Amino acid sequence: MSVQNVLSTIKENSIMFVDFRFVDLSGHAHHITLPSTEVDAETFVNGVAFDGSSIPGFRGIEESDMVMIPDTESSFIDPFTDHPTLNIMCNIHTPDGERYERDPRGIAQKAEEYLQKSGVGTAAYFAPESEFFIFDEVRYESKMNTSFYEVDSAEAGWNTARKEEGGNLGYKIPVKGGYVPVAPVDSQQDIRSEMVRLMQESGLRVERHHHEVATAGQAEINFRFDTLTKTADNLLKYKYIINNVARQWGKVATFMPKPLFGDNGSGMHVHSSIFNGDSPLFYEKGAYANLSPLAMHYIGGILHHAPALIAITNPSTNSFKRLVPGYEAPVNLVFSKGNRSAAIRIPVAAVTPKGCRIEFRTPDSTANPYLAFAAMLLAGLDGIKRKLDPVALGYGPFDKNIYDLPDEEKKEIRSVPGTLDEALDALEADSEFLTEGGVFTKDFIDNFVQLKRAEAKAVAIRVHPHEYSLYFDC
Ligand code: GLU
Ligand code: MG
Ligand code: MG
Repeated sequence: MSVQNVLSTIKENSIMFVDFRFVDLSGHAHHITLPSTEVDAETFVNGVAFDGSSIPGFRGIEESDMVMIPDTESSFIDPFTDHPTLNIMCNIHTPDGERYERDPRGIAQKAEEYLQKSGVGTAAYFAPESEFFIFDEVRYESKMNTSFYEVDSAEAGWNTARKEEGGNLGYKIPVKGGYVPVAPVDSQQDIRSEMVRLMQESGLRVERHHHEVATAGQAEINFRFDTLTKTADNLLKYKYIINNVARQWGKVATFMPKPLFGDNGSGMHVHSSIFNGDSPLFYEKGAYANLSPLAMHYIGGILHHAPALIAITNPSTNSFKRLVPGYEAPVNLVFSKGNRSAAIRIPVAAVTPKGCRIEFRTPDSTANPYLAFAAMLLAGLDGIKRKLDPVALGYGPFDKNIYDLPDEEKKEIRSVPGTLDEALDALEADSEFLTEGGVFTKDFIDNFVQLKRAEAKAVAIRVHPHEYSLYFDC
């Protein structure tokens, strides 16, 4: 959309406010709102100033001025404001007009430019499946003397049961038993449908929605793939709509990877593929899972760099509580067709040559999508450049259920890092694939590691409720 088109949209829809948004390192959006009477063609050139020193991980107080430069392609009418408001995602620049090297959206764009310069293809497509829970309330202060937010069979279905003032009417979802039941077991169809309606109104092409496997209101909504930066923009829109519809309905949504101990967590599986113009580069009929050698090398790059990559795709202490055996979250650094216990699954059902893609199952929604998609692409491109063969490197294919294998065979398989600190160690030891083409800078990675180490420490030094059940009566 051109600047002129945005200005006409403002006029034609009697837009009163324009909301300029940018994304911080953790993937959270921030905004500054201008009355539309203050917005003209120059605003799109000069941008909107903000104080970078108040955003964690951005600039120091001594060089705090920053500028948001709006990207007109990303605009949509906000479905929640009382006054007609147009939202626009921005890139962050320094006051001298340079791209700010820590701007996640700028990094996503640089990754796309790097792909084009590499000669491998013209576009990479991404589609995240960002799972979430809809709860009636947040209860993290409760259950002091058992495991934090533990689900047991007695509690299964509590989230819907709590609404039943007249008594328990049954139709509860047991632990890990929530995959796609119809109402009245699924009590959240209407709220998900409302989320989808507003997503469509805001320009997202939604493909489906359903209840997910966990007991207590776990959901998934899928929107259509797009190019890297656009998909990250779409994911921000997706989360914004889910969080605000939940609030309107007196509920709360969370994308936290493992809110309930003892039940499935929420992943953000990411599908990706590379095209050259109209030609899909991942497809080769008759090969394993119909994957071309280029796709195999892409897989090799992702699995080879996975321990470091996971610091960016799973960047929270909670991420590693999801990546444990038994809950459909991947633990093993292998690839496979169909197998949900592998870090990379190649979907084979109903897949056309153009739909041929790989699904990286490790990521979760604590990832900043701009950084996560960029880092995945760079890992895959490094694999293509170095012709890393995942078969020769011992990453599979592995078409058995790895959770059920005898220990001897399991020993051969490499695992995801066990903690955020381990992933950060891996990133410190293996970051050159990210700085290729100047996409990520060394400064960015050092700063990221420092921020994340501080988070890990903040969690580690706090007293955990489960410590009471283990140690109180010592
Ligand atoms: N919730 C599972 C995870 O943590 C995934 C379930 C699925 O395959 O959709 O990754
Ligand atoms: Mg799912
Ligand atoms: Mg999936």
